[in-house]
Amino acid sequence: MSVVNSFPWQQAQWNQLSTAYSQECLPHGLLFCGSRGVGKKGFAFALAQMVLCEHSMESSQACGQCKSCQLFTAHNHPDLKLTEPDDEHKPIKVNQVREIIDFMNLMPHTSSHRVVIIDQAQQLNHNAANSLLKSLEEPPANSLLILITHRPSALLGTIRSRCRQVLFPAVETALASSWLADQVPGDVNLLLNLSHGGPLLARELAASDYLQLRQQCFEDWLGLNSNNMLSIANKWVKCGLENVFVMLDSWIMDLIRFKAANDDRLIRNQDLSSQLINLVKHLDMSKLMRLQQQLLERQSQVQQNINANLLAEDIMIRWLECKQVA
Ligand SMILES: [Zn+2]
Repeated sequence: MSVVNSFPWQQAQWNQLSTAYSQECLPHGLLFCGSRGVGKKGFAFALAQMVLCEHSMESSQACGQCKSCQLFTAHNHPDLKLTEPDDEHKPIKVNQVREIIDFMNLMPHTSSHRVVIIDQAQQLNHNAANSLLKSLEEPPANSLLILITHRPSALLGTIRSRCRQVLFPAVETALASSWLADQVPGDVNLLLNLSHGGPLLARELAASDYLQLRQQCFEDWLGLNSNNMLSIANKWVKCGLENVFVMLDSWIMDLIRFKAANDDRLIRNQDLSSQLINLVKHLDMSKLMRLQQQLLERQSQVQQNINANLLAEDIMIRWLECKQVA
């Protein structure tokens, strides 16, 4: 079988778009919105395969057999193009959009359509977005442009308004855990908690060394003092400070939630809850809130290429201040 399927929680979106396709009224521009890890990109590829397949018009499903489906499966389809930033924080630039426009203006090679998927579309820089706008205003015949984002508000309003928005809401917990339990071993509820309910993100975490890394960083954080600060800062920078800051944010938010309501069910990092509860006894709410705010500021500075060691040390000093008994 070589058909990319949508995920079980995407049935409504699939029905909506496959019906539009079979009635030949699929819009030229689609904007997929929804939080990370819910499978928007997978869905875009499933839709692309269907649109490119030679035999999908009646069944609204890719056949998995035709020449187009074979090229698609071999990641070598001449009528499909994926554009995304080099990494999540880099912009999508105007020359990348020019390539998209050239691509869309060519006649389809094998299929009846040309399909472009732009992932992380919130990273389109200003010139790139303006350039893209023209092809949304006058789309070439038989072209389909799919934009994907978890932050639709970061897109130009004029781009949003020229696309049909398709929402991918958070996946229902029971469905997400039963799907994930079939995919990976381990504590699926913890993995889902750590990925804010996104089953695909949770699967990615399970397949990586994330949980070990998190455990190490948590121990560093608990054992931090002015003597080991420099070596821990070095270590965190090597691990990728952005990821470490996301973990810190999640622990601090757990401390704040627990401090506010005294209810351990509100703790997302359930496996660390006894240590977090122990820690929170000695912490002051207003200091914690200030620390969380300072962390947010440092997180945005990491993306601006400010010296990572200094940012790590700064947040460590503030954490030690926060722990000092008033
Ligand atoms: Zn096919």
